[in-house]
Order: sequence, then C-alpha cells, then structure tokens
Amino acid sequence: MSLKKKAIVVGGGFAGVNLVKELSRDKQLDITLVDINNYHFFPPLLYQVATAFIEPSNISYPFRRMFQKKKNIHFHLGKLLRIFPGENYIVTDTGNLGYDILVIAIGTQTNYFGMKDVEKNAMPMKNITDAINLRNHLLLSLEKATRAATLDEKQRDLNIVIAGGGPTGVEIAGMLAEMRRNIVSKEYLEINAGDMRIHLIDASPTLLGPMSKKSQEEAKKVLSDWNVEIKLDTAVKSYQNGMVTLSDGSEIPTNTLIWASGVTGAIIPGLPEGSIGRGNRILVDEFNRVQTLNIFAIGDICLQLTDNKFPKGHPQLAQVAIQQGNLLGKNIPRLLAGKAMQPFVYHDKGSLAIISKYKAVADLPKIFFKGFFAWLIWLFIHILPLAGFRNKVKLAFSWFWSFMTNDPTLRLIIRPVDKDD
Ligand SMILES: Cc1cc2nc3c(=O)[nH]c(=O)nc-3n(C[C@H](O)[C@H](O)[C@H](O)COP(=O)(O)OP(=O)(O)OC[C@H]3O[C@@H](n4cnc5c(N)ncnc54)[C@H](O)[C@@H]3O)c2cc1C
Repeated sequence: MSLKKKAIVVGGGFAGVNLVKELSRDKQLDITLVDINNYHFFPPLLYQVATAFIEPSNISYPFRRMFQKKKNIHFHLGKLLRIFPGENYIVTDTGNLGYDILVIAIGTQTNYFGMKDVEKNAMPMKNITDAINLRNHLLLSLEKATRAATLDEKQRDLNIVIAGGGPTGVEIAGMLAEMRRNIVSKEYLEINAGDMRIHLIDASPTLLGPMSKKSQEEAKKVLSDWNVEIKLDTAVKSYQNGMVTLSDGSEIPTNTLIWASGVTGAIIPGLPEGSIGRGNRILVDEFNRVQTLNIFAIGDICLQLTDNKFPKGHPQLAQVAIQQGNLLGKNIPRLLAGKAMQPFVYHDKGSLAIISKYKAVADLPKIFFKGFFAWLIWLFIHILPLAGFRNKVKLAFSWFWSFMTNDPTLRLIIRPVDKDD
C-alpha cells in the first residue's frame, strides 16, 4: 500500500498548472490533475483566435505532454460535479476520486446576469471552444452578407455588437476594426467594408474600468479613430430575434452579440454552508484554505479577504492565479511536514491592454506607457508565459507574419461533427 499522500487539483488553468508544477517537487505526493479539457490554454490571447489571427494550437498545450517527465503527476479528464468533504472524495462525470488534499482551481464561467435570451443567443469568449465558435460565426456572417437578399438582412449580418468594455471587449473591437480595414475591404468584394459596423457597449462610464484614467482615455480615442461606435453608461437588456435592446431603449439589429461582460463562479455542491461569497467565489483564509478543511481554492474561483491591500478580494487576473498556485505549491508540503504555512500577499506587477496594431496601454507600478512601446511590452509579456517553446516560436512567427503583411491566412470555417455524441 502506498504511503504517499494523494493531492487532487481540479482545474489546469494558470493557478492549477503552477500549483501542480511546484507540488511535483515533493516526491511524497501523488498528484492528480482533473480538467474538463485535455489541454491548458492562455485566455488573454483568445480574442486573436476568435478573429482568425492566430491558431488555437498557438495558445494551448496538452497536459499529458506538459507533465510527461513528472512521474508523480497523473491526469484525469473529467468535470467536477460534487465534493464529499466528510468522506474525502470527489465525483466527476468520469468517475470518483479519493484525496488527502483537494485544491479547487476551476476559474469562473460567463455571467449573463440572469438574462436567459442573452445566454441562449450571444457568443461568449471564455475558452477555446468559444473562440473557435466565434471565429466560425464571424466568417459565416461575412459569407452570408455577400449573398444577402435584402439590405436589412445584409446590415444585420454586418453589425457586430460587443458587450463589455474591459480589456477583452477593447481588444476584440480593435482586432475587428483591423480585420474590417485589412481583410474585408480586400477579400469580400460584395461588401462595402464601411457597412461593417462595430458597436462596443459598456454599462460603466469608461472603457477599461480597472485601469488608469490615461489608459481609459487612450483606448476610447484609438478605437473611435478606428470607427468603433462606443456607447458607455448603457447596458444590454435583451437579445432575441436578431435584435439587441439597450437600456436607453435603442435597438441594434445584429446576428452577432459578443458577450465579454462578466464572470461568475460555478457553485460545486458539497462545500460547507457559508463557504460561498460574492460572485459565487469560494471564501478562503490567508492560506487559501476553505474553512478549516483539507480543501483549498486558488485563482479566480476563490475570494480571499485577508490581504490588506485588497480588502474586497483580489482582481480576477492571471498574476493572482499564478502567485497563489506557486505559494500553495510550497505551503502544502509545509503543512504535511507539520511546518507553518505562509500567508498569501499579492504582488501587483501592473496591467496592459492592446488596442490595435502598434497601440497598447500599460499601467505599470508608478509608470504609464502608451503606443508602440507599450505594444512591444504587451507582445513580450504575452509570449513569455505561453506553455511550450514551440508555441512561443510559432506565435512569434504568426505575429511577425500577420502584423507585417496585414494578411493572416487562417480564415478557415471548420465545423467538426462529433460522432461520439
Ligand atoms: C478572454 C479573456 C481574456 C483575459 N485577459 C487577461 C489579461 O490580459 N490579463 C490577465 O491578467 N488576465 C486576463 N484574463 C483573466 C485570466 O485569464 C484569469 O484571471 C486566469 O485565467 C485565472 O486562472 P485560473 O487558473 O483561476 O482559472 P482558469 O484559467 O479559468 O482555469 C480554470 C481551469 O479549470 C477547468 N475547469 C473549469 N471547470 C471545471 C470543472 N467543473 N471540472 C474540471 N475542470 C474544470 C477549465 O477547463 C480550466 O482549465 C482573461 C480572461 C479571459 C476569459
């Protein structure tokens, strides 16, 4: 019988992957990573997949390949359905797993704020499947527009509404504006590129809400120069029958509502009462522990109110997830060895957003950059953390080619049919 302790980590995003890598140094641990997908992916570049600028494989990496050389890491493909804390096991849709230590790192899911029609009809931007669906949808809409029977029908195919003016909404709006200028005008002769209208809607008074005022103003200026139609202080209220209705009563006929407007936690049955906080995030102490159990939560799914600089909880960002994963990877072996754990403190390294080619904004601690230099920093920072050397090289080449030529060649409409279903 093995005397090794069993650690189960559910979710192989930034938090889970960094945790598992760190934990694997402890040879007394037998680690199982559980994920719905068999690959890790890089959410900040999803919008480039969705706009056919890079390939999905540029930003994804199979878990089994990632941990090929780590003999104490196993992978289990499955979706966490329920936790039994008293009995120390979890239920997934592909079987039950027992644990000594459980870590939940499942991130968040798209929040439609209870609007069922939006949930049914809008295109989310949360994972690789969403990005591929959106890419196919955008390309199909352009094809439909080339053969639309009426002008109204054509305009509905060409109107794109983006809900959410955070980094994702801004980045996708900028990319679509470039696509309109560089691709639609050249390749879709039946379309007047100017008829492709890009609407960016946000309920708050600014774009890039969490960033500095300078970044917010720069984003608004650059996107306006690119003819993105920005509407602030306005919320999407419904989306049905090809019509988006806004809170000011106005309507936009469209077949494409891109939903980049918010996230919420998925509640996993079995966690003790009182362990779920704001945004359905799991409440944790300063060591990321859920109450006093042998269960931890890290990354976007957790809400930690113990960090002095972040009394309302940390922002749901990659750096928080990475830092929590790394620290817990050191804390769990300490706990098992009977040593004191270290509390988590977030080190904010700043935030960046790309607006369009050669234009980005960077709020680094104490410094603000914009324009070409910020854009270069953005490229550099988004290549470095990509999993796999080959992915880094492939992405660098894709970017070089696409930015230089303004002519990426990836606009393939590929719709797999799942015979296993
Ligand atoms: C489009 C987009 C752009 C972003 N851009 C930026 C950016 O520029 N900068 C930045 O700092 N942050 C950005 N973020 C936020 C950042 O991606 C998150 O903060 C970060 O990914 C959180 O890491 P995580 O490990 O907690 O969760 P995730 O990275 O979301 O990983 C969760 C993992 O859990 C798995 N999973 C989910 N549910 C289950 C289940 N029930 N059972 C098993 N497995 C499950 C998922 O498949 C996934 O692998 C962006 C997010 C999105 C969606």
